[in-house]
Amino acid sequence: MDRNKYEIIRLGMERTAEALRRNNYYSVCVENKEEALDLIETLLDENSVSSVAVGGSMTLFEAGVLEFLRSGKYDFYDRYMAGLTKEQIGEIHRKAFSCDAYICSTNAVTENGELYNVDGSGNRVAAMIYGPRNVIVVAGYNKIVKDIEQAQARVKSIAAPANAVRLECKTPCAATGRCVDCKSDGRICADYVVMGRQMIKDRIKVILVGEELGY
Ligand code: SF4
Repeated sequence: MDRNKYEIIRLGMERTAEALRRNNYYSVCVENKEEALDLIETLLDENSVSSVAVGGSMTLFEAGVLEFLRSGKYDFYDRYMAGLTKEQIGEIHRKAFSCDAYICSTNAVTENGELYNVDGSGNRVAAMIYGPRNVIVVAGYNKIVKDIEQAQARVKSIAAPANAVRLECKTPCAATGRCVDCKSDGRICADYVVMGRQMIKDRIKVILVGEELGY
């Protein structure tokens, strides 16, 4: 990426990380996914983590987090393991609450230091809010928005339609690319959660990455 353009992106990331820290999140900016992976390993080691689970996330695939967690170093509750039934995946989602750490991404990070997520079944937002003692959120710079209004717009115009296409949902957004607040059976938007200032300082660790990751 052009260094001048990156500098502007970096300044926005630093501002957002500072806002997150004011809201009791631990937050660090890194330049790329390799640095993000190193930081994840450090955070897991520092917090003596042995069991880990993840939330559904393209960012984690793109950043190599899934591959890293499958290395054998951790007791990894892998919701993406081949051949799992719907019931087994549900069981892993429940076990995730008692893991040492939960790793996920987020649909949007605001410059005011908030996280905004929309879930279908709620397993991710539930684990983020009241699950493991350590939650690590990995987000590319493309997830940063000005405020909650822009976060909502981001989910409706990018994140949810793209996920609907990926999951082959029979929803209007998968066909047109636009959210119409559908009532379809395949709807993937159910729980709309704003996470503001946290009561437990540094429980949630947000890594902002200077690369475009996920949607
Ligand atoms: S509410 Fe329906 S149309 Fe809108 S993004 Fe969600 S699944 Fe798509």
